[in-house]
Amino acid sequence: MRNLIALFACTLAISTASANDPHAAAKPAAATPAAPAAKPGASKAEPVKLAALETPKPAPPSAKAAAAQALSEADAEAELSAKIAARLALMRANQAARLAAAAKAKKVSVTRREAVSAITQPAPARPFHSDHWSYEGETGPANWGKINAAWSKCDTGTRQSPIDLRDGMKVDLEQITFDYKPTGFNVVDNGHTVQVTVGGGNFITVQNRSYELLQFHFHRPSEERVNGKGFEMVVHMVHKDPEGKLAVLAVLLERGKGNNMIQTVWNNLPLEKLDVVNPNVVLDVAEMLPQRRDYFTFMGSLTTPPCNEGVLWLVMKQPMQASPAQMALFSRMYPLNARPIQASSGRMIKESN
Ligand SMILES: [Zn+2]
Repeated sequence: MRNLIALFACTLAISTASANDPHAAAKPAAATPAAPAAKPGASKAEPVKLAALETPKPAPPSAKAAAAQALSEADAEAELSAKIAARLALMRANQAARLAAAAKAKKVSVTRREAVSAITQPAPARPFHSDHWSYEGETGPANWGKINAAWSKCDTGTRQSPIDLRDGMKVDLEQITFDYKPTGFNVVDNGHTVQVTVGGGNFITVQNRSYELLQFHFHRPSEERVNGKGFEMVVHMVHKDPEGKLAVLAVLLERGKGNNMIQTVWNNLPLEKLDVVNPNVVLDVAEMLPQRRDYFTFMGSLTTPPCNEGVLWLVMKQPMQASPAQMALFSRMYPLNARPIQASSGRMIKESN
């Protein structure tokens, strides 16, 4: 009995708190459902009755009287239970109606906002943030800029690489100073190419800046063209200066005699993509350089997403050679991993005389 009274007192307290809820009060009048007609004075009369019921009763004078008393108490309890159940049902119905109305009001307001936005703004682009790109199909070069918002330069940039090297300004270009030495390295097949990361200490200096070699990798066919002519492969040697500026030195590869350095890399290819092989030998990157050091230079970009610009390109004029077997080995892994030629958009190309 006491438990029931306590429960009822509790539900009344909750009901009162809910009615005073500032959020509920802030809702527009239209959104608040009309309260179902409550029994007149129901909530106010109850506590009085409860208080009466709660008053301790005098001890029963006889067994008969005690039985009657027990019977009457049982009746009162049953009646109270029924009242509590009815009151709870009413409160639940009220609450459900309030929530439904609030949800409906919110939905209407969102729909209205969307309608307004559809009139004033173009439809928002569908969300795009994939990291997967490739050289063919839906995730190929023509769509790189649409795959990920951070790759928009692939679409909109005007200083993109690679380009067809033609109509260069022939000038006395300064010699690139090479400071390469045998170094430790690791090899990874990153899913787009075979990439060799070298230990520190390999530098080039050009235009009074020193760039350190970070990694080199291969493309087939060559990405760059010279007067429209492509090459079977190209090596891109990626350098960075202390400010983070990139300089990529490209060495074109044609079919001929074998190249020691390439063979050392091929000897240490990982069996699985993304596995890193750390060979216990050194690599002499200088073996990758042609005898003549003439070059083309222009400002371009990374040739893979995110296609960042501001990259200094240095393309050696004299190609290097690799054996047919060395070429064939790479083509089994990557028959095509070259970005198509990009518009040069009137940018200056300089070349050694
Ligand atoms: Zn590259």
